[in-house]
Amino acid sequence: MSCYLGIDLGTSGAKALLMDTAGKILATASAEHPIAAPRPGWSEQKPDDWWRSATQAVRRALHRAKVDPADVAAIGLSGQMHGLVLTDGDGEVLRPAILWNDQRTAREAAEIERAVGGRRNLVKMVGNAAMTSFTLTKLLWVRRHEPRVYERARHLLLPKDYLRLRLTGEYVGDVSDMSGTLMLDQEKRDWSGPILEKFRIDRELLPPVVESHEITGRLTKPAARQLGLKPGVPVVGGGGDQPVGAVGNGIVAPGLASATLGTSGVMYVHSREYRADPESRVNTFCSCVAGQWCLFGCVLSAGGSLQWFRNTLAQSEMQQARREKRDPYELLTAQAAEAPLGAGGVFFLPYLTGERTPYADPFARGGWIGLQAGTTRGQLIRAVLEGVTFAMNDALQLLKAAGVRIRQIRLSGGGARSPIWRQMQADVYGAPCAVVNADEGPAYGAAILAAVGAGEFRSVAQACKALVQVAETIQPGRAARARYADYYRQFTRLYPALSDEFPRLQALTENGR
Ligand code: ADP
Repeated sequence: MSCYLGIDLGTSGAKALLMDTAGKILATASAEHPIAAPRPGWSEQKPDDWWRSATQAVRRALHRAKVDPADVAAIGLSGQMHGLVLTDGDGEVLRPAILWNDQRTAREAAEIERAVGGRRNLVKMVGNAAMTSFTLTKLLWVRRHEPRVYERARHLLLPKDYLRLRLTGEYVGDVSDMSGTLMLDQEKRDWSGPILEKFRIDRELLPPVVESHEITGRLTKPAARQLGLKPGVPVVGGGGDQPVGAVGNGIVAPGLASATLGTSGVMYVHSREYRADPESRVNTFCSCVAGQWCLFGCVLSAGGSLQWFRNTLAQSEMQQARREKRDPYELLTAQAAEAPLGAGGVFFLPYLTGERTPYADPFARGGWIGLQAGTTRGQLIRAVLEGVTFAMNDALQLLKAAGVRIRQIRLSGGGARSPIWRQMQADVYGAPCAVVNADEGPAYGAAILAAVGAGEFRSVAQACKALVQVAETIQPGRAARARYADYYRQFTRLYPALSDEFPRLQALTENGR
């Protein structure tokens, strides 16, 4: 029987997943790859290391699934977004990849917006503002600081597209991942002529772009040998890990959104029409559904806030969890559940690593406010959960303001493991929430895209309908929803009241005083 292979190239490692035609996961496996910070704020990886971890993960998954390699009918790719890979004409990598979280390009980001006459103009051209994450900033940095590398470069690829090159020998990108380069006209789903002209970028440097389910090439003999597969297996376009993860959650039709609470939090919605926030407080990308889009906002310290609490202030729970072989997060959320809704008027600002949506403020800081002599530990923890959920709701409000209709929000990530946090999300978002059967994220989405490319399903939407099932729905409580609306309104007043102070706090600590 046929099966499909999804490969997700993450920042810390590669993950491979094998799925049968009914969507059942046969096996998953991962392998790590190193990350280097040659200077403060820099973040680089060697594409060769990606290939090594990906081949390891695939071999392990094949071994675990005990499938006949000849049954693997197609391969889908997903990957960390924005990373810049440059190769020469022979596909030799010219310098380590500059990753999404590399911070060296603040100057280039500012220059890009200035060159096109401001942020709003850039958003009109490519759907997003210039952030240091985005690929064009990295390309301009290389041109300025490493002109010899730039001169020799013949192909620009994103991380997962480098894997494709190794798998098939083809230089191809897909519209969802390339949406994060600042060079794609998302409405046309092709390279932006005006941007390439403005920044004097040779179109030949950029690969052709396809939709995520389209076949881009076939497994070469040497690659097949390394992976333990048969040559000739088709490899589909795939996409960036956010949009491909959305496929794994079935967020591929209008009205569907997802709230993912991992270390960071992402509020994501599918849109049949192209829409972009003129201020770019939320991002717009091409989705993995042909001819459709997605919008999303990112909360930097979501689960990360609770993790900080656990690591810093929960030694006793950590010990108890070890003794009783339980999850410390369960012990913490149980205490939060004992505290009343609204945490007795205590609020937590989750800006532990600055904030992206909605404030785009690297200086923002976290904190509790509203403490009283009677404040309990449970209230402090509850305030953390509520503060993170309010911050996610900030992103949701921006998505709604962009004009997208939302009828169901699918919850995923570590935070969705907690029933308390699930109900809290439904109450705060004021929308029906759901949890789906498979929470394997982008690797699962990549396998689904492979199945569509191989003709197993007519479309991505049809595949998701057949494969992704809602396991549980959570309705907002009427009374809780109304009370949270009041608390949320108060929450939204706190950042503006403090925002002028954050750069001062930064300056104080920077000067070492
Ligand atoms: P990552 O983003 O690092 O890939 P996860 O999606 O697993 O990780 O999310 C990790 C976060 O999920 C943790 O920081 C924590 O805040 C939260 N989390 C994990 N397990 C639970 C739980 N049982 N209850 C509440 N939150 C949890």
